[in-house]
Amino acid sequence: DALGPTLCIGEILVEIVATMPGEGFRNALPLIGPFPSGAPAIFIDQCGRIGGQAAMIGAVGRDDFGQVNIDRLVRDGVDVSGIAIDPDYPTGSAFVRYREDGSRDFVFNIERSAAARFGWTPAVAALAARAGHLHVMGSALSISGAWEVIRQVLAQVKARGGTLSLDPNLRKELTQDVETRERFLWLVGQADLLLPSGEELEDAAGVAGEEAALAALFARGIKEIVLKRGEAGASCFLSDGRRIDAPSFVVDAVDPTGAGDCFGGAYLTCRRLGQPVESALDYGCAAGARNATLRGPMEGAGTREELDAFIATTQRRAS
Ligand code: ATP
Ligand code: MG
Repeated sequence: DALGPTLCIGEILVEIVATMPGEGFRNALPLIGPFPSGAPAIFIDQCGRIGGQAAMIGAVGRDDFGQVNIDRLVRDGVDVSGIAIDPDYPTGSAFVRYREDGSRDFVFNIERSAAARFGWTPAVAALAARAGHLHVMGSALSISGAWEVIRQVLAQVKARGGTLSLDPNLRKELTQDVETRERFLWLVGQADLLLPSGEELEDAAGVAGEEAALAALFARGIKEIVLKRGEAGASCFLSDGRRIDAPSFVVDAVDPTGAGDCFGGAYLTCRRLGQPVESALDYGCAAGARNATLRGPMEGAGTREELDAFIATTQRRAS
């Protein structure tokens, strides 16, 4: 990452998790938290923790939930100069409960929290002036102030020869709101690396069928597409036609929230540090799997040493 740090822009949240599986939050139940969270924050935390230069742009409230996030990002080596502290609004939050079938119920406080209230500041401008890469999570596109920041940062990063990665992180707003959808599709056309999972590949391409979707995305200028397949691992497709598959690691998944974000942070950082696709996929899969073994969405983000130890001692799933 000789060009400068990886930036990520978007929601910073705390997550509070129900300790008993079941439906919703209509009765009093045991909860554990606050855990630092928000897909963009999890991504950038894993970038810093594995040894990349990383900086976060977003906002928290002037409260302990905000401090939980700042403390964690600082511990993991992330530059927090681009995180604004909103004097009037509390830090965003997400309450999460797993159902017996593994699906999740949520109560969100994002739109009307500090998480959604940030914009262009001198601190953001200073980061934009030296960043080498921008990562965007689709979830950040539903934050009203984020778009202007993303657009301006991206213009500066690209002018410097830097790159963009995009994780569609599909949310209902992305498919339902026309303007958000347009912005998402424009970003797809600007991306160097795309990190979809499941149906996000065909959705981003606007074309049905895996092969046709890949061809359409490469035709738009994307160089590298990494398809995350959960327990089935991940596959990298390169614009020269190469395909590299990686198996997942066998773990007891306690809390799979954040696996995709940790995968992305580890993969992107390894690639920016010059590692080949095969090894970046291995670290990505290890980061995702390791994160799933601990309760809390970024509790399992691993250092280089922790991921090396995980890879050395954990069985890979037979393909
Ligand atoms: P998210 O729900 O965080 O958005 P995602 O859909 O973006 O996740 P996944 O494919 O679920 O991404 O997870 C990313 C990677 O993490 C996978 O490719 C896999 O290597 C690893 N992973 C995720 N879940 C598990 C699991 N239960 N067991 C082992 N590895 C896992
Ligand atoms: Mg995802």
